[in-house]
Amino acid sequence: MKLKSKVALITGAGSGLGREIALTFAREGCAIGVNDIRPETADAVVAELRALGAEASPLPCDVADSRAVHKMFAKHMGDFQSLDILVNNAGIAHMEEHVRKNAEAMLQEVITTGRTTRSAEATKLMEDGHWRRTLAIHLDGTFYCTREALKIMEFNGWGNIINMGSLASQTGIMGVPDYSAAKAGIVGFTKSVAREVIGRGIRVNAIAPGYIDTPLLVEVSDLMKQMIAAQTPMGRLGTAAEVAATALFLASDDSSFFVGQVLAPNGGLYM
Ligand code: NAP
Repeated sequence: MKLKSKVALITGAGSGLGREIALTFAREGCAIGVNDIRPETADAVVAELRALGAEASPLPCDVADSRAVHKMFAKHMGDFQSLDILVNNAGIAHMEEHVRKNAEAMLQEVITTGRTTRSAEATKLMEDGHWRRTLAIHLDGTFYCTREALKIMEFNGWGNIINMGSLASQTGIMGVPDYSAAKAGIVGFTKSVAREVIGRGIRVNAIAPGYIDTPLLVEVSDLMKQMIAAQTPMGRLGTAAEVAATALFLASDDSSFFVGQVLAPNGGLYM
């Protein structure tokens, strides 16, 4: 077992990649604090983890709320008395209806004429609230949780932090400038903190997945998914299990010489 007797806190673990990472870590002997914004999804994953025989506890909170995050870490320590691994995974990716339609029209035009003169009209029409909420969940949330975790990990002289970036941080994704900016910020944050705390025995790395088939892609049409698969050298979208395997590698001693790195399970979509 690669994570025997370790304790992890995983944000956004009520769905998709976070849930799969929680199940993967639990199979390797890890106890899991399960964060999600919706208590019912956190509870459901805790039940799944306990059914596997793992120790697990629900830690519902909005990671964009620094006070709530502070309280969540206090509850985590009350429940587990330890924290070895933090996975900053919680996230959203919301495309407005008009952006989705414009993006579809752009793709259709490219398919039929080989070029497009359209714009997705995402940045020009984006409201402040949309922009701020995306950055708050991804970037503020990653900062708030990391800040709390470091207080515990520095005291222990050991720790492992994994931040969820995205292909969007490497290439930018059309139609989601907010998401692309947040994910690029997470990568910069990862490298800065990695340099800051490696001397205290804490490794910080990031994962930048390509397109993975999870509920996050609910707004992505079948046509877009086909286009993405066609552009991906591997010819398909990724699975949550493939990202969870990357997280397990980074969380375990197998990656003992990896510091401030961005691993990219993306089927070759970006090399
Ligand atoms: P998902 O299935 O939607 O899971 C994300 C989870 O985070 C959901 O349960 C969501 O709750 C929760 N969440 C949202 N806002 C939160 C908040 N403020 N506080 C706590 N939890 C919150 O999506 P996923 O695909 O697993 O995505 C997980 C991470 O991977 C995200 O950071 C995403 O950007 C990243 N990622 C995904 C892909 C992909 O293709 N799927 C690719 C690259 C990177 P709600 O359902 O209520 O919103």
